[in-house]
Amino acid sequence: MSDIDIQRALFDEVMVPNYAPLSQIPVRGQGSRVWDQAGNEYIDFASGIAVTALGHCHPKMVQAIQEQSQKLWHVSNLLTNEPALQLAHKLCQATFAQRVFFCNSGTEALEASLKLARRYAYDHYGDNKKQIIAFRQAFHGRSLFTVSVGGQAKYQEGFGPLPGGITHLPFNDVAALEDAISSQTCAVVFEPVQGEGGVTPATREFVKAARKLCDQNHALLVFDEVQIGMGRSGHLYAYMDYDVVPDILASAKGLGGGFPIGAMLTMTDIAKSMSVGTHGSTYGGNPLACAVANAVLDVIHTPQVLEGVVHRHHMFVKGLQKINAQYGVFSEIRGLGLLLGLELAPKWQGRARDLVNAALAQRLFVLVAGTDVVRLAPSLIIPEEDIEQGLALFEQAVQAFVES
Ligand SMILES: *Cc1c(COP(=O)(O)O)cnc(C)c1O
Repeated sequence: MSDIDIQRALFDEVMVPNYAPLSQIPVRGQGSRVWDQAGNEYIDFASGIAVTALGHCHPKMVQAIQEQSQKLWHVSNLLTNEPALQLAHKLCQATFAQRVFFCNSGTEALEASLKLARRYAYDHYGDNKKQIIAFRQAFHGRSLFTVSVGGQAKYQEGFGPLPGGITHLPFNDVAALEDAISSQTCAVVFEPVQGEGGVTPATREFVKAARKLCDQNHALLVFDEVQIGMGRSGHLYAYMDYDVVPDILASAKGLGGGFPIGAMLTMTDIAKSMSVGTHGSTYGGNPLACAVANAVLDVIHTPQVLEGVVHRHHMFVKGLQKINAQYGVFSEIRGLGLLLGLELAPKWQGRARDLVNAALAQRLFVLVAGTDVVRLAPSLIIPEEDIEQGLALFEQAVQAFVES
């Protein structure tokens, strides 16, 4: 390896071109700071897209993976293992769930959720209850099934034939859902806060109506909490904030804090439809992944961290409003907890990527969510001085952006 020139240019020579990474290559992270090959320091308001919920190299996570790495790495699902059972037990204690299925990513958690909903309907109501209702701008992953359930045509183009039985409705539209749902609906799936689609929270009215309509039509309510879950909303899961309990919940991203893991949470009666042999994953419940997630959950599921998310939310919103009072670039600052969306005012629409690049030039990581929204998803425990310094960098980025 030592004689290979590891530079960004190498990416274009050896990698499939489905990503277009930035020119900087990060080599080290600590808390909410990241350093690149050249030694430049960045403040991280992105968390690897809402993944590193406890920042980089949290000591509890480092300890967990070091300890587990010397005990047991993998046994397959022909056997169970201690970290997986511990994690499942904790998740059941902490949430509505009575049963857990582990996998390796958000996509797989959604894939399992949707397959379970179909199978449950098949087991209980026969062969005609197949319709899945999903929403425009939704993002549920990149397998052919989840990308078809997602509500963004650009991710589906050219991959057909796509799985069928999926209806897309406008998000937060109670009347449209009332019209579309029927006895043939097996599941209604949405993100309590749409992430990739623009950081759009579901309205409380919509979430309550979805629960009621699912009950009336014997359909399962599936929450995709891959991005907003694991404390990012200020509750362990956002359904707790909405005070509406789903039948199935998909978790990933922050759950592993940077180590790949996904989970599907559900109830005993529903879980029965995933009987022996119906579904599986070689790595699902891997001891290393579960050991790390146990450590993440122990830290996040505490009043200090969850209340800290709400406190940091207010710090961010206040700082961002101050910036916006001066520059007027945003028409709306929205979101829940530490998932924030800054919608560009009409004059700057379509230019979210330019503002992200302006922030990068100030050595600040932020994200887009579509072409019109800048998204912030910092660590849930980002130090207050990093918020202040990061916002100061962001102000300089906004200034450069409006002057460009
Ligand atoms: C990221 C994301 C997914 C997909 O997760 P992967 O780990 O990339 O497969 C699904 N749903 C939501 C809401 C997400 O944000």
